[in-house]
Amino acid sequence: MADGVRVRFAPSPTGEPHVGNIRTALFNWLFARHAGGAFVLRIEDTDQERKVEGALESILESLRWLGLDWDEGPENGKGGAYGPYFQSERLGLYRETVDALLSAGDAYQCFCSPERLDAMRKEQQRNQQPPGYDRHCLSHMTAGERDRRAAAEAHVVRFRIPRESGAVVVDDFIRGDVPYDPALLDDFVILKSDGFPTYHLANVVDDHHMRITHVMRAEEWLPSTPRHLLLYRALGWTPPVFVHLPMILGPDRAKLSKRHGATSTLAYRDEGYLPEALTNFMALLGWSLDDHTEIFSREELVECFDLERVGKAGAIFNVEKLTWMNGLYIRQLPAVELAERLLPFLERPEGAGGLPDSVARPIDREYVATLAPLIQERLKRLDEAPDLLSFFFEGMASPTGEALVPKGVAPQRSAAALAAAADRLNGIASWREDALEAALRPMAEELDLKTGQFFSAVRAAVTGRSVSPPLFATMAALGRERCMQALHKAVETLEKHADGVSHA
Ligand code: GLU
Repeated sequence: MADGVRVRFAPSPTGEPHVGNIRTALFNWLFARHAGGAFVLRIEDTDQERKVEGALESILESLRWLGLDWDEGPENGKGGAYGPYFQSERLGLYRETVDALLSAGDAYQCFCSPERLDAMRKEQQRNQQPPGYDRHCLSHMTAGERDRRAAAEAHVVRFRIPRESGAVVVDDFIRGDVPYDPALLDDFVILKSDGFPTYHLANVVDDHHMRITHVMRAEEWLPSTPRHLLLYRALGWTPPVFVHLPMILGPDRAKLSKRHGATSTLAYRDEGYLPEALTNFMALLGWSLDDHTEIFSREELVECFDLERVGKAGAIFNVEKLTWMNGLYIRQLPAVELAERLLPFLERPEGAGGLPDSVARPIDREYVATLAPLIQERLKRLDEAPDLLSFFFEGMASPTGEALVPKGVAPQRSAAALAAAADRLNGIASWREDALEAALRPMAEELDLKTGQFFSAVRAAVTGRSVSPPLFATMAALGRERCMQALHKAVETLEKHADGVSHA
Protein backbone atom coordinates (compact mmCIF):
# COMPACT_ATOMS: atom_id res chain seq x y z
CA MET A 1 0.00 0.00 0.00
CA ALA A 2 2.61 2.54 -1.15
CA ASP A 3 0.13 5.40 -1.27
CA GLY A 4 -1.76 4.53 1.87
CA VAL A 5 -2.37 6.92 4.72
CA ARG A 6 0.47 7.03 7.25
CA VAL A 7 0.07 9.25 10.29
CA ARG A 8 2.04 9.58 13.46
CA PHE A 9 1.71 10.58 17.07
CA ALA A 10 5.01 12.13 18.10
CA PRO A 11 5.03 12.88 21.81
CA SER A 12 8.03 14.20 23.72
CA PRO A 13 8.61 12.39 27.01
CA THR A 14 8.66 15.61 28.98
CA GLY A 15 5.79 14.92 31.40
CA GLU A 16 2.49 13.17 31.98
CA PRO A 17 0.48 13.18 28.75
CA HIS A 18 -2.55 15.43 29.15
CA VAL A 19 -5.86 15.14 27.38
CA GLY A 20 -4.70 17.58 24.70
CA ASN A 21 -1.84 15.28 23.72
CA ILE A 22 -4.03 12.23 23.74
CA ARG A 23 -6.78 13.92 21.72
CA THR A 24 -4.08 14.36 19.04
CA ALA A 25 -3.24 10.66 19.32
CA LEU A 26 -6.92 9.73 19.08
CA PHE A 27 -7.57 11.81 15.95
CA ASN A 28 -4.51 10.34 14.25
CA TRP A 29 -5.54 6.84 15.27
CA LEU A 30 -9.14 7.31 14.08
CA PHE A 31 -7.97 8.74 10.79
CA ALA A 32 -5.57 5.84 10.24
CA ARG A 33 -8.12 3.19 11.17
CA HIS A 34 -10.82 4.82 9.05
CA ALA A 35 -8.51 4.88 6.04
CA GLY A 36 -7.01 1.46 6.66
CA GLY A 37 -3.62 3.15 6.98
CA ALA A 38 -0.81 3.04 9.52
CA PHE A 39 -0.64 4.74 12.91
CA VAL A 40 2.99 5.32 13.84
CA LEU A 41 4.21 6.14 17.33
CA ARG A 42 7.44 8.13 17.38
CA ILE A 43 9.11 9.29 20.56
CA GLU A 44 10.64 12.74 20.18
CA ASP A 45 13.28 12.53 22.87
CA THR A 46 15.96 14.85 21.56
CA ASP A 47 15.66 17.43 24.31
CA GLN A 48 17.86 15.77 26.87
CA GLU A 49 17.27 18.48 29.46
CA ARG A 50 13.50 18.27 29.40
CA LYS A 51 13.28 14.49 29.60
CA VAL A 52 11.22 13.36 32.58
CA GLU A 53 11.64 10.01 34.26
CA GLY A 54 8.53 7.86 33.79
CA ALA A 55 6.99 10.07 31.11
CA LEU A 56 7.49 7.51 28.33
CA GLU A 57 5.77 4.82 30.40
CA SER A 58 2.85 7.18 31.08
CA ILE A 59 2.48 7.88 27.37
CA LEU A 60 2.49 4.20 26.44
CA GLU A 61 0.18 3.40 29.34
CA SER A 62 -2.32 6.11 28.31
CA LEU A 63 -2.41 4.82 24.73
CA ARG A 64 -2.85 1.24 25.88
CA TRP A 65 -5.56 2.15 28.35
CA LEU A 66 -7.54 3.89 25.62
CA GLY A 67 -6.91 1.07 23.15
CA LEU A 68 -5.01 3.29 20.71
CA ASP A 69 -2.81 0.56 19.36
CA TRP A 70 0.08 1.53 17.14
CA ASP A 71 1.22 -0.30 14.02
CA GLU A 72 4.80 0.86 14.20
CA GLY A 73 6.70 2.19 17.15
CA PRO A 74 8.39 1.20 20.35
CA GLU A 75 7.52 -1.82 22.42
CA ASN A 76 4.72 -3.37 20.45
CA GLY A 77 6.83 -6.21 19.16
CA LYS A 78 6.21 -5.13 15.61
CA GLY A 79 9.03 -2.65 15.14
CA GLY A 80 8.30 -1.48 11.66
CA ALA A 81 10.15 -0.79 8.45
CA TYR A 82 10.98 2.82 9.27
CA GLY A 83 12.53 2.52 12.73
CA PRO A 84 14.08 3.15 15.07
CA TYR A 85 11.14 5.05 16.56
CA PHE A 86 13.08 6.91 19.23
CA GLN A 87 14.66 10.06 17.85
CA SER A 88 17.62 9.64 20.17
CA GLU A 89 18.48 6.54 18.14
CA ARG A 90 18.42 8.36 14.82
CA LEU A 91 21.19 10.89 15.38
CA GLY A 92 23.21 9.68 12.36
CA LEU A 93 20.36 10.47 10.02
CA TYR A 94 19.99 14.00 11.36
CA ARG A 95 23.75 14.58 11.15
CA GLU A 96 23.72 13.50 7.48
CA THR A 97 20.87 15.88 6.73
CA VAL A 98 22.60 18.73 8.49
CA ASP A 99 25.77 18.06 6.48
CA ALA A 100 23.77 18.16 3.26
CA LEU A 101 22.23 21.49 4.25
CA LEU A 102 25.65 22.85 5.22
CA SER A 103 27.24 21.92 1.94
CA ALA A 104 24.36 23.38 -0.04
CA GLY A 105 24.74 26.66 1.88
CA ASP A 106 21.27 26.30 3.42
CA ALA A 107 22.72 26.08 6.90
CA TYR A 108 25.75 27.45 8.72
CA GLN A 109 27.64 26.92 11.94
CA CYS A 110 27.25 29.53 14.63
CA PHE A 111 29.80 30.07 17.40
CA CYS A 112 28.15 32.94 19.22
CA SER A 113 28.32 32.67 22.99
CA PRO A 114 25.17 32.90 25.11
CA GLU A 115 26.50 36.25 26.37
CA ARG A 116 26.76 37.65 22.86
CA LEU A 117 23.28 36.41 21.96
CA ASP A 118 21.92 37.97 25.10
CA ALA A 119 23.54 41.33 24.39
CA MET A 120 22.21 41.16 20.80
CA ARG A 121 18.68 40.54 22.07
CA LYS A 122 18.84 43.48 24.46
CA GLU A 123 20.14 45.73 21.72
CA GLN A 124 17.28 44.65 19.43
CA GLN A 125 14.78 45.39 22.17
CA ARG A 126 16.28 48.84 22.75
CA ASN A 127 16.08 49.61 19.05
CA GLN A 128 12.62 48.08 18.79
CA GLN A 129 13.83 45.68 16.13
CA PRO A 130 12.19 42.28 15.61
CA PRO A 131 14.01 39.56 17.56
CA GLY A 132 16.16 37.02 15.73
CA TYR A 133 19.70 36.00 15.12
CA ASP A 134 21.70 38.80 13.46
CA ARG A 135 23.69 36.43 11.21
CA HIS A 136 26.95 37.45 12.79
CA CYS A 137 28.64 34.11 12.01
CA LEU A 138 27.24 34.07 8.47
CA SER A 139 28.42 37.54 7.52
CA HIS A 140 31.73 37.70 9.41
CA MET A 141 33.21 34.41 8.27
CA THR A 142 33.59 32.38 5.11
CA ALA A 143 32.23 28.86 4.91
CA GLY A 144 35.83 27.59 4.99
CA GLU A 145 36.57 29.48 8.20
CA ARG A 146 33.43 28.18 9.81
CA ASP A 147 34.28 24.58 8.86
CA ARG A 148 37.78 24.98 10.33
CA ARG A 149 36.51 26.42 13.59
CA ALA A 150 33.72 23.84 13.77
CA ALA A 151 36.26 21.01 13.84
CA ALA A 152 37.61 22.31 17.15
CA GLU A 153 34.97 24.49 18.77
CA ALA A 154 31.56 24.00 20.27
CA HIS A 155 28.88 25.37 17.95
CA VAL A 156 25.31 25.06 16.82
CA VAL A 157 24.07 24.81 13.24
CA ARG A 158 21.44 27.28 12.05
CA PHE A 159 19.13 27.05 9.07
CA ARG A 160 19.56 29.99 6.73
CA ILE A 161 16.07 31.36 6.12
CA PRO A 162 15.75 32.40 2.47
CA ARG A 163 14.52 35.85 3.47
CA GLU A 164 14.50 37.08 -0.09
CA SER A 165 11.91 34.49 -1.16
CA GLY A 166 8.22 35.38 -1.25
CA ALA A 167 5.68 34.48 1.41
CA VAL A 168 5.76 30.94 2.76
CA VAL A 169 2.21 29.68 2.62
CA VAL A 170 1.09 26.90 4.92
CA ASP A 171 -1.77 25.13 3.21
CA ASP A 172 -3.51 23.83 6.30
CA PHE A 173 -6.25 21.28 5.69
CA ILE A 174 -8.54 22.95 8.20
CA ARG A 175 -7.57 26.59 7.99
CA GLY A 176 -6.74 26.89 4.30
CA ASP A 177 -3.78 29.08 3.26
CA VAL A 178 -1.89 30.75 6.09
CA PRO A 179 0.89 33.00 4.71
CA TYR A 180 4.07 33.84 6.63
CA ASP A 181 6.66 36.47 5.76
CA PRO A 182 10.09 34.77 5.74
CA ALA A 183 11.73 38.08 6.61
CA LEU A 184 10.18 37.70 10.06
CA LEU A 185 11.51 34.19 10.60
CA ASP A 186 14.68 33.69 12.60
CA ASP A 187 17.64 31.58 11.41
CA PHE A 188 16.63 28.84 13.85
CA VAL A 189 18.97 26.25 15.30
CA ILE A 190 18.71 22.81 13.71
CA LEU A 191 21.59 21.09 15.49
CA LYS A 192 22.50 21.86 19.09
CA SER A 193 26.02 21.94 20.52
CA ASP A 194 25.42 18.53 22.15
CA GLY A 195 25.02 16.99 18.69
CA PHE A 196 21.25 16.52 19.10
CA PRO A 197 18.90 17.97 16.53
CA THR A 198 16.18 20.43 17.50
CA TYR A 199 12.50 19.56 17.22
CA HIS A 200 12.15 21.31 13.84
CA LEU A 201 14.85 19.35 12.10
CA ALA A 202 14.19 15.93 13.61
CA ASN A 203 10.46 16.27 13.05
CA VAL A 204 10.83 17.06 9.35
CA VAL A 205 13.52 14.45 8.72
CA ASP A 206 11.45 11.75 10.38
CA ASP A 207 8.14 12.67 8.80
CA HIS A 208 9.89 12.43 5.46
CA HIS A 209 11.77 9.20 6.08
CA MET A 210 8.82 7.56 7.81
CA ARG A 211 6.70 8.46 4.76
CA ILE A 212 4.12 10.31 6.81
CA THR A 213 1.27 11.47 4.57
CA HIS A 214 -0.66 13.66 7.04
CA VAL A 215 0.76 15.61 9.94
CA MET A 216 -2.05 16.06 12.41
CA ARG A 217 -1.10 17.99 15.51
CA ALA A 218 -2.25 20.70 17.89
CA GLU A 219 -2.77 24.23 16.64
CA GLU A 220 0.11 25.52 18.75
CA TRP A 221 2.49 23.99 16.17
CA LEU A 222 1.09 26.02 13.28
CA PRO A 223 3.72 28.81 13.62
CA SER A 224 6.46 26.14 13.35
CA THR A 225 5.10 24.91 10.06
CA PRO A 226 6.56 27.67 7.78
CA ARG A 227 9.99 26.70 9.14
CA HIS A 228 9.26 23.09 8.36
CA LEU A 229 8.10 23.95 4.85
CA LEU A 230 11.35 25.83 4.20
CA LEU A 231 13.30 22.79 5.36
CA TYR A 232 11.29 20.54 3.02
CA ARG A 233 12.00 22.95 0.21
CA ALA A 234 15.74 23.14 0.92
CA LEU A 235 15.96 19.36 1.11
CA GLY A 236 13.96 18.86 -2.07
CA TRP A 237 11.29 16.82 -0.30
CA THR A 238 7.52 16.89 -0.76
CA PRO A 239 5.79 18.02 2.43
CA PRO A 240 2.90 16.02 3.91
CA VAL A 241 -0.61 17.41 4.32
CA PHE A 242 -0.79 19.58 7.45
CA VAL A 243 -3.80 19.39 9.72
CA HIS A 244 -3.72 21.61 12.80
CA LEU A 245 -6.30 20.55 15.34
CA PRO A 246 -8.29 23.18 17.24
CA MET A 247 -7.24 24.19 20.73
CA ILE A 248 -8.87 22.64 23.77
CA LEU A 249 -10.31 25.26 26.10
CA GLY A 250 -11.71 25.23 29.61
CA PRO A 251 -15.33 26.29 30.20
CA ASP A 252 -14.01 29.87 30.68
CA ARG A 253 -12.58 29.67 27.14
CA ALA A 254 -9.00 29.92 28.39
CA LYS A 255 -6.54 27.29 27.18
CA LEU A 256 -7.18 24.07 29.14
CA SER A 257 -4.80 23.80 32.07
CA LYS A 258 -4.45 22.21 35.50
CA ARG A 259 -6.53 25.07 36.83
CA HIS A 260 -9.55 23.45 35.18
CA GLY A 261 -9.08 20.19 37.11
CA ALA A 262 -7.30 17.00 36.17
CA THR A 263 -5.82 17.13 32.71
CA SER A 264 -3.43 14.18 32.91
CA THR A 265 -4.97 11.29 31.00
CA LEU A 266 -4.09 8.69 33.61
CA ALA A 267 -5.68 10.84 36.32
CA TYR A 268 -9.01 10.28 34.56
CA ARG A 269 -8.38 6.55 34.65
CA ASP A 270 -7.61 6.75 38.36
CA GLU A 271 -10.78 8.76 39.01
CA GLY A 272 -12.84 6.00 37.50
CA TYR A 273 -13.63 7.20 34.01
CA LEU A 274 -14.09 4.39 31.49
CA PRO A 275 -11.73 4.45 28.54
CA GLU A 276 -14.67 4.11 26.14
CA ALA A 277 -16.35 7.17 27.70
CA LEU A 278 -13.18 9.28 27.56
CA THR A 279 -12.59 8.20 23.96
CA ASN A 280 -16.11 9.17 22.94
CA PHE A 281 -15.80 12.47 24.78
CA MET A 282 -12.40 13.34 23.31
CA ALA A 283 -13.53 12.52 19.78
CA LEU A 284 -15.99 15.40 20.10
CA LEU A 285 -13.25 17.86 21.07
CA GLY A 286 -12.96 19.39 17.63
CA TRP A 287 -14.84 16.85 15.55
CA SER A 288 -18.56 16.24 15.11
CA LEU A 289 -20.70 14.13 12.84
CA ASP A 290 -23.67 16.48 12.91
CA ASP A 291 -25.08 18.91 15.41
CA HIS A 292 -26.72 16.37 17.70
CA THR A 293 -25.14 12.90 17.78
CA GLU A 294 -23.01 12.51 20.88
CA ILE A 295 -22.73 8.84 21.68
CA PHE A 296 -20.47 6.79 19.45
CA SER A 297 -19.01 3.36 19.97
CA ARG A 298 -15.38 2.94 18.99
CA GLU A 299 -16.45 1.18 15.78
CA GLU A 300 -18.83 3.98 14.89
CA LEU A 301 -16.11 6.55 15.45
CA VAL A 302 -13.75 4.68 13.16
CA GLU A 303 -16.47 4.46 10.57
CA CYS A 304 -17.59 8.10 10.75
CA PHE A 305 -14.41 10.03 11.46
CA ASP A 306 -13.15 12.28 8.74
CA LEU A 307 -11.11 15.47 8.54
CA GLU A 308 -13.82 17.39 6.72
CA ARG A 309 -15.71 17.65 9.98
CA VAL A 310 -12.85 18.82 12.16
CA GLY A 311 -13.53 22.44 13.11
CA LYS A 312 -11.37 25.52 13.51
CA ALA A 313 -12.91 26.86 16.68
CA GLY A 314 -11.50 25.95 20.07
CA ALA A 315 -13.24 22.96 21.66
CA ILE A 316 -14.56 23.32 25.20
CA PHE A 317 -13.56 20.64 27.67
CA ASN A 318 -16.51 20.33 30.00
CA VAL A 319 -15.78 17.80 32.70
CA GLU A 320 -19.44 17.69 33.74
CA LYS A 321 -20.34 16.45 30.30
CA LEU A 322 -17.60 13.84 30.51
CA THR A 323 -18.95 12.69 33.86
CA TRP A 324 -22.49 12.48 32.48
CA MET A 325 -21.23 10.44 29.56
CA ASN A 326 -19.27 8.20 31.90
CA GLY A 327 -22.43 7.45 33.89
CA LEU A 328 -24.15 6.51 30.68
CA TYR A 329 -21.36 4.12 29.70
CA ILE A 330 -21.37 2.63 33.20
CA ARG A 331 -25.10 1.92 32.94
CA GLN A 332 -24.55 0.12 29.64
CA LEU A 333 -22.02 -2.34 31.06
CA PRO A 334 -23.13 -5.89 31.83
CA ALA A 335 -23.12 -6.24 35.64
CA VAL A 336 -20.30 -8.79 35.63
CA GLU A 337 -18.17 -6.49 33.54
CA LEU A 338 -18.93 -3.57 35.85
CA ALA A 339 -17.89 -5.71 38.81
CA GLU A 340 -14.55 -6.49 37.13
CA ARG A 341 -13.93 -2.79 36.59
CA LEU A 342 -14.90 -1.94 40.16
CA LEU A 343 -12.56 -4.45 41.78
CA PRO A 344 -9.34 -2.43 41.44
CA PHE A 345 -11.08 0.60 42.92
CA LEU A 346 -12.40 -1.39 45.88
CA GLU A 347 -9.04 -3.06 46.42
CA ARG A 348 -7.06 0.16 46.60
CA PRO A 349 -5.74 1.02 50.05
CA GLU A 350 -8.17 3.00 52.16
CA GLY A 351 -5.92 6.07 51.97
CA ALA A 352 -6.19 5.97 48.18
CA GLY A 353 -9.98 5.82 48.28
CA GLY A 354 -10.49 2.04 48.47
CA LEU A 355 -12.46 0.00 50.99
CA PRO A 356 -11.34 0.33 54.63
CA ASP A 357 -8.04 -1.41 55.26
CA SER A 358 -9.80 -3.62 57.81
CA VAL A 359 -11.57 -5.38 54.93
CA ALA A 360 -9.44 -8.34 53.83
CA ARG A 361 -8.04 -8.37 50.30
CA PRO A 362 -8.55 -9.83 47.77
CA ILE A 363 -12.16 -8.77 47.64
CA ASP A 364 -14.67 -11.50 46.77
CA ARG A 365 -15.35 -11.13 43.03
CA GLU A 366 -18.66 -12.89 43.11
CA TYR A 367 -19.97 -10.76 45.92
CA VAL A 368 -18.95 -7.63 43.98
CA ALA A 369 -20.88 -8.99 40.99
CA THR A 370 -23.99 -9.24 43.23
CA LEU A 371 -23.51 -5.69 44.45
CA ALA A 372 -22.66 -4.02 41.15
CA PRO A 373 -26.28 -3.83 39.90
CA LEU A 374 -27.30 -2.10 43.15
CA ILE A 375 -25.22 0.98 42.40
CA GLN A 376 -25.08 0.84 38.62
CA GLU A 377 -27.91 3.32 38.08
CA ARG A 378 -26.43 6.07 40.17
CA LEU A 379 -22.71 5.55 39.66
CA LYS A 380 -21.02 8.29 37.64
CA ARG A 381 -17.43 7.35 38.34
CA LEU A 382 -15.97 4.02 39.39
CA ASP A 383 -14.12 5.64 42.29
CA GLU A 384 -17.45 6.40 43.98
CA ALA A 385 -18.05 2.69 44.56
CA PRO A 386 -15.95 2.04 47.69
CA ASP A 387 -17.87 4.62 49.68
CA LEU A 388 -21.25 3.43 48.40
CA LEU A 389 -20.47 -0.22 49.09
CA SER A 390 -18.23 -0.24 52.15
CA PHE A 391 -20.97 -1.24 54.62
CA PHE A 392 -21.44 -4.51 52.75
CA PHE A 393 -17.87 -5.47 53.56
CA GLU A 394 -17.49 -4.12 57.05
CA GLY A 395 -18.88 -5.91 60.08
CA MET A 396 -22.41 -5.30 61.20
CA ALA A 397 -23.46 -1.67 61.44
CA SER A 398 -23.71 0.00 64.86
CA PRO A 399 -25.92 3.00 64.28
CA THR A 400 -26.49 5.31 67.23
CA GLY A 401 -29.89 5.68 68.85
CA GLU A 402 -30.43 9.03 67.10
CA ALA A 403 -29.72 7.53 63.71
CA LEU A 404 -32.38 4.88 64.26
CA VAL A 405 -35.12 7.34 65.06
CA PRO A 406 -36.74 8.86 62.00
CA LYS A 407 -37.96 12.43 62.21
CA GLY A 408 -41.27 12.76 64.01
CA VAL A 409 -41.17 9.27 65.59
CA ALA A 410 -40.63 8.54 69.27
CA PRO A 411 -37.73 6.17 70.08
CA GLN A 412 -40.13 3.63 71.60
CA ARG A 413 -42.22 3.51 68.44
CA SER A 414 -39.17 3.09 66.31
CA ALA A 415 -38.02 0.22 68.52
CA ALA A 416 -41.44 -1.39 68.28
CA ALA A 417 -41.49 -1.01 64.50
CA LEU A 418 -38.07 -2.60 64.10
CA ALA A 419 -39.01 -5.42 66.45
CA ALA A 420 -42.15 -6.02 64.38
CA ALA A 421 -40.10 -5.99 61.21
CA ALA A 422 -37.73 -8.57 62.65
CA ASP A 423 -40.70 -10.72 63.62
CA ARG A 424 -42.26 -10.53 60.20
CA LEU A 425 -39.00 -11.31 58.42
CA ASN A 426 -38.37 -14.27 60.64
CA GLY A 427 -41.19 -15.98 58.90
CA ILE A 428 -40.31 -15.38 55.27
CA ALA A 429 -39.27 -18.41 53.33
CA SER A 430 -36.85 -16.94 50.84
CA TRP A 431 -34.59 -13.97 51.51
CA ARG A 432 -35.08 -12.32 48.16
CA GLU A 433 -35.68 -8.75 47.13
CA ASP A 434 -39.31 -9.29 46.07
CA ALA A 435 -40.14 -11.36 49.14
CA LEU A 436 -38.57 -8.74 51.42
CA GLU A 437 -40.54 -6.00 49.80
CA ALA A 438 -43.80 -7.98 49.98
CA ALA A 439 -43.22 -8.54 53.69
CA LEU A 440 -42.17 -5.03 54.68
CA ARG A 441 -44.09 -2.63 52.46
CA PRO A 442 -47.54 -3.19 54.01
CA MET A 443 -46.13 -2.86 57.53
CA ALA A 444 -45.81 0.93 57.54
CA GLU A 445 -49.55 1.33 57.43
CA GLU A 446 -50.11 -1.37 60.03
CA LEU A 447 -47.70 0.47 62.32
CA ASP A 448 -49.28 3.80 61.52
CA LEU A 449 -45.99 5.19 60.18
CA LYS A 450 -45.24 6.88 56.90
CA THR A 451 -43.52 4.50 54.48
CA GLY A 452 -40.50 6.81 54.40
CA GLN A 453 -40.24 6.83 58.19
CA PHE A 454 -40.46 3.07 58.50
CA PHE A 455 -38.02 2.35 55.70
CA SER A 456 -35.52 4.86 56.99
CA ALA A 457 -35.50 3.15 60.38
CA VAL A 458 -34.96 -0.24 58.71
CA ARG A 459 -32.29 1.21 56.45
CA ALA A 460 -30.41 2.75 59.37
CA ALA A 461 -30.64 -0.53 61.29
CA VAL A 462 -29.28 -2.80 58.56
CA THR A 463 -26.82 -0.49 56.79
CA GLY A 464 -25.90 2.02 59.49
CA ARG A 465 -26.52 4.78 56.96
CA SER A 466 -29.19 7.23 56.08
CA VAL A 467 -28.57 6.75 52.34
CA SER A 468 -27.94 3.43 50.63
CA PRO A 469 -28.66 1.57 47.41
CA PRO A 470 -32.31 0.40 47.08
CA LEU A 471 -33.33 -1.04 50.44
CA PHE A 472 -34.70 -4.49 49.56
CA ALA A 473 -31.93 -5.33 47.12
CA THR A 474 -29.46 -4.19 49.73
CA MET A 475 -31.03 -6.42 52.38
CA ALA A 476 -31.05 -9.34 49.97
CA ALA A 477 -27.35 -8.85 49.33
CA LEU A 478 -26.51 -8.46 53.02
CA GLY A 479 -28.18 -11.78 53.75
CA ARG A 480 -30.70 -13.00 56.27
CA GLU A 481 -28.40 -13.55 59.20
CA ARG A 482 -26.75 -10.19 59.12
CA CYS A 483 -30.02 -8.30 58.67
CA MET A 484 -31.78 -10.17 61.45
CA GLN A 485 -28.91 -9.59 63.85
CA ALA A 486 -28.77 -5.94 62.88
CA LEU A 487 -32.49 -5.48 63.51
CA HIS A 488 -32.28 -7.11 66.94
CA LYS A 489 -29.25 -5.04 67.82
CA ALA A 490 -31.00 -1.87 66.71
CA VAL A 491 -33.99 -2.67 68.92
CA GLU A 492 -31.63 -3.10 71.87
CA THR A 493 -29.83 0.15 71.12
CA LEU A 494 -33.14 1.96 70.87
CA GLU A 495 -34.43 0.55 74.15
CA LYS A 496 -31.31 1.81 75.90
CA HIS A 497 -31.56 5.09 74.07
CA ALA A 498 -35.23 5.52 75.00
CA ASP A 499 -34.28 4.80 78.62
CA GLY A 500 -31.60 7.45 78.47
CA VAL A 501 -34.03 9.89 76.94
CA SER A 502 -36.79 9.29 79.51
CA HIS A 503 -34.41 9.57 82.51
CA ALA A 504 -32.85 12.71 81.18
N1 GLU B 1 7.06 16.39 19.85
C1 GLU B 1 6.00 17.29 19.56
C2 GLU B 1 5.03 17.26 20.71
O1 GLU B 1 5.42 16.90 21.76
C3 GLU B 1 5.36 16.87 18.25
C4 GLU B 1 4.65 17.94 17.54
C5 GLU B 1 4.28 17.43 16.16
O2 GLU B 1 3.40 16.59 16.10
O3 GLU B 1 4.90 17.84 15.20
O4 GLU B 1 3.89 17.59 20.65
